[in-house]
Amino acid sequence: MAITRPDGAIEYANRYLRGMLGVRSGEPIELPFARCETGCDRVRIRGGSGEALDVLYAVCPLHDDTGVAAGFVHLLQYLGDEHHIESLARLAFYDSLTGLPNRNLFNDRLARALAVGKRNRRTFALLYIDIDHFKQVNDAFGHETGDELLRAVAARLAQSVRASDTVARWGGDEFVAILEGVADQQSAACVASKLVAACGEPYIVRGHECRITLSLGASCHPRDGHDPAALLERADRAMYEVKARGRNGYRIEESPNHYGLSAA
Ligand code: GH3
Ligand code: MG
Repeated sequence: MAITRPDGAIEYANRYLRGMLGVRSGEPIELPFARCETGCDRVRIRGGSGEALDVLYAVCPLHDDTGVAAGFVHLLQYLGDEHHIESLARLAFYDSLTGLPNRNLFNDRLARALAVGKRNRRTFALLYIDIDHFKQVNDAFGHETGDELLRAVAARLAQSVRASDTVARWGGDEFVAILEGVADQQSAACVASKLVAACGEPYIVRGHECRITLSLGASCHPRDGHDPAALLERADRAMYEVKARGRNGYRIEESPNHYGLSAA
């Protein structure tokens, strides 16, 4: 925190600001908005040795009894370097193991898909995917191999849909996807069977050949629901029906003709 006079000269700077800027007591400090500025913004300033610092910067005037600006108060909060800010954003919205969008970002995309769907009458399908018996992979080959296999499955899922679709990690061995513009159950079934087939191909992970199967449930907007909870619940329920019927396949909610089990 600092206080400047109306002419911009520093009247006071506390030790936290000096520490942040790397400027010792008695050495001059330069602030970018030393006078005649009011507001709050994220800005990049220079530290004592010339390095760039991203800060949240607020300035407000100090008025004397007659209403004349007698100086300015400056409040600066260090945000970290650019890399640090980027990694915070990544942590908030992406899954650190697979690099896929996480649940937060997925919920946001789902809310958007619903908003666009309502306005433009656009349909989409929601997929809920769980790897079958994944615990056995960990038990047989160890958790690290399990982690690497999860990354490989995530990559195959992401590669098997359009760039405009969203595949996210819901948590553990569960994934969710939004298939934009999928208009009917036939198309949803087509993508679902493609995902089941793509992920069912063998993987070589840390020298081990691994095979997995998926159980996949799907719901379609607007037919199966008008809000995120209803669509997720329907897709989840359809996925559990696949599990109950022996796993390794897909089910498109409420459509008896769109139940597909692989021959394996
Ligand atoms: P099911 O066919 O019923 O789905 O059986 P499952 O063994 O896959 O069991 P479930 O889906 O209920 O549990 C998922 C398991 O996946 C639990 C845990 O052993 C494993 N798992 C969850 N998250 C991770 C992770 O981040 N890394 C690794 N290696 N394993 C995980
Ligand atoms: Mg599982």
